[in-house]
Amino acid sequence: MTKYVFVTGGVLSGLGKGITTASIGLILKSMGYSVTAIKIDPYVNVDAGTMNPYMHGEVFVTDDGGETDLDIGHYERFLDTSLSKDHNITTGKIYMEVITKERKGEYLGQTVQIIPHVTDEIKQKIRDVARKTSADIVLAEIGGTVGDIESLPFLEAIRQMRLEEGPTNAIFVHVVLVPKLSTTSEFKTKPAQHSFQELRRIGIQPDVIVARSESPITPSVVGKLALFGNVRVDEVVNSYDVDPVYDVPRILMEQGLGRILAHKLALEHRTPDLGKWIEFTERYRNASKAVSIAMVGKYTALRDSYLSIIEALKHAGTHLGVKPRLEWIESTDVERGKIDVRDVLENVGGAVVLPGFGSRGVEGKISVIKAFRESGKPVLGICFGLQLMVVEFARNVLGLERANTTEVDPNTPHPVVDLLEIQRFTIVKGGSMRLGALLIKISEGTLAHRIYRTDFIYERHRHRYHINPQYLDRFESSGYIVSGVSPEGYPEIMELTNHRFYFGTQAHPEFKSRPLRPSPVFTEFMRSLLHS
Ligand code: GLN
Repeated sequence: MTKYVFVTGGVLSGLGKGITTASIGLILKSMGYSVTAIKIDPYVNVDAGTMNPYMHGEVFVTDDGGETDLDIGHYERFLDTSLSKDHNITTGKIYMEVITKERKGEYLGQTVQIIPHVTDEIKQKIRDVARKTSADIVLAEIGGTVGDIESLPFLEAIRQMRLEEGPTNAIFVHVVLVPKLSTTSEFKTKPAQHSFQELRRIGIQPDVIVARSESPITPSVVGKLALFGNVRVDEVVNSYDVDPVYDVPRILMEQGLGRILAHKLALEHRTPDLGKWIEFTERYRNASKAVSIAMVGKYTALRDSYLSIIEALKHAGTHLGVKPRLEWIESTDVERGKIDVRDVLENVGGAVVLPGFGSRGVEGKISVIKAFRESGKPVLGICFGLQLMVVEFARNVLGLERANTTEVDPNTPHPVVDLLEIQRFTIVKGGSMRLGALLIKISEGTLAHRIYRTDFIYERHRHRYHINPQYLDRFESSGYIVSGVSPEGYPEIMELTNHRFYFGTQAHPEFKSRPLRPSPVFTEFMRSLLHS
């Protein structure tokens, strides 16, 4: 029978609840239990795919083509598992389901209400995951903060689940921020006290409290949190800031969280084995060498927009014993002359041309790409990054004037990147891109083959445009070859033969990178920087 751990948050969002949930998952997994995780996002969007990364951070893509919240990425990385789109539940999904059922007449004769119809649907979706995965433990993190209007139906649903499943089969972990005043260096528990009250008003009593703080909190603060949170002192654990975040499971385990959870869930306690994981964090910290990388994009103000890429670089770097030092290059600043491309080139070993959408900042990216290609320094292009590398090559090597992607210039005389055929008939914006893990055939004797060491791979996709095969002869005869291709014949990977590492991929290898199993693309990119 599946047990549930519900994780709620207090005081403010962006606390690191996702990392806490993932860490709890890893501790339980390391105790030998099978664990999976769900993220509940109380917004009305059906999925994260239609949201600006500036608002919401990266859109994480699952194998089955879900466009999900970035916390799903944390769960995949910590639990070393692949989750499906069902693991991201939103208000939009719930309402769509309820309204569809109402129209079909499934509630005939009834008044359809938040309680019980919406809450039943929420419970159903959570239990569906339990049934499909047959996990010993399902973690469910409720996004946002207690007290948000949007969260209420979800909190009510998990309150009911505790009652229905029984107190040792469904437990509550509440994550709160404990700020420290810089003037007095004092930790303040008042905001946490308010959030305990709010939670109790809804009918939820936490079993475990996780205090998030900048630095370790003192025993008297722990005591206060226990008192106001109505738990025992040993049921309060402290998640203070650590680098890398992969160290959070260790600090929570050392405070006995594994034992507390086992006790609360009436499970046998087995000492969590985090050996390899701890080794990874030590290797990360001990990396003596650093390499500088230009991160070229247009959402650089919010680093979460590129979260999985940053993590993939860390995984690969740690594997090789080097630290990636990221220099963020806002491509609109390049266009405005605020950033000089020559300075960028001088200061870094290589560049990642980041994914993206739309025309803003495109010319800035193209000028950075040109400088790097000519310099011979390593470049890794991801999705839009590859597409713009192709545009740059078309213009500056093949001499195709005003070559472009039709996403940026629908009237270009040389559409070297163009809309996928099926997209011409696609009107709906949500969930309609080419999505998820798709097959790519790798050509022998290429850099791509040296990277993947196999003929067929699956990587995750999220795009509407693709490299136009009509121009391929011209590219290939100039040494810019296709080394990976989709079963439909779309170019998936392109590389320059006379360059150390000039590699672009239509897919997003970052989504499959894990701390202990880095993506080979990122590892090879980092390796090429070491030999620069
Ligand atoms: N905008 C491009 C496309 O839709 C690239 C998308 C991306 O970088 N993920 O094809």
